[in-house]
Amino acid sequence: MAQSHIPRQIFFVDVMLGKLARWLRILGYDTAYERNMTDGAIVDQVLNEQRWLLTRDRYLVQRKAVRGRYTLIRSDFVIDQLGQLRTELQIRLAIDEKTLSRCVACNHILENIPPSQAGPRVPPFVAKHYTHFTGCPNCGQLYWAGTHWSHLQQRLKLLSQASTNQVPDQ
Ligand SMILES: [Zn+2]
Repeated sequence: MAQSHIPRQIFFVDVMLGKLARWLRILGYDTAYERNMTDGAIVDQVLNEQRWLLTRDRYLVQRKAVRGRYTLIRSDFVIDQLGQLRTELQIRLAIDEKTLSRCVACNHILENIPPSQAGPRVPPFVAKHYTHFTGCPNCGQLYWAGTHWSHLQQRLKLLSQASTNQVPDQ
């Protein structure tokens, strides 16, 4: 892989990799992802925002402008995709207090929301049992640490084990 000073943990994810984009946001990585963009617009955003391009598009990466600032994703499966990124870009496959900081829907940084404000906007069961809420100031999505996150955590553990088996660390 080409040596480069481009940060490799701020991403632009191409349209074929929506699931991977969501996982990277869950893991706390700044991840741009748009559904309708021309190749030219993708290259512009990658360059302007100094992002590392993750793509499955062999034609896109033939463009000179993205040379030395992309990873060509090999697998169709998100488990293997994350495994590849862990091996090649050293991304962390763990959920902890440093992660869960980013809106999964739109990539914006989340803010803490007091329970008094979150309460009326969530199902009554959630309002009653949860005290820690975060919200997205951009799209309004609310998040709370609950069964959803522990479910994710479990999947990540499986994912991590699976990719350890398939993609040995260097
Ligand atoms: Zn959002």
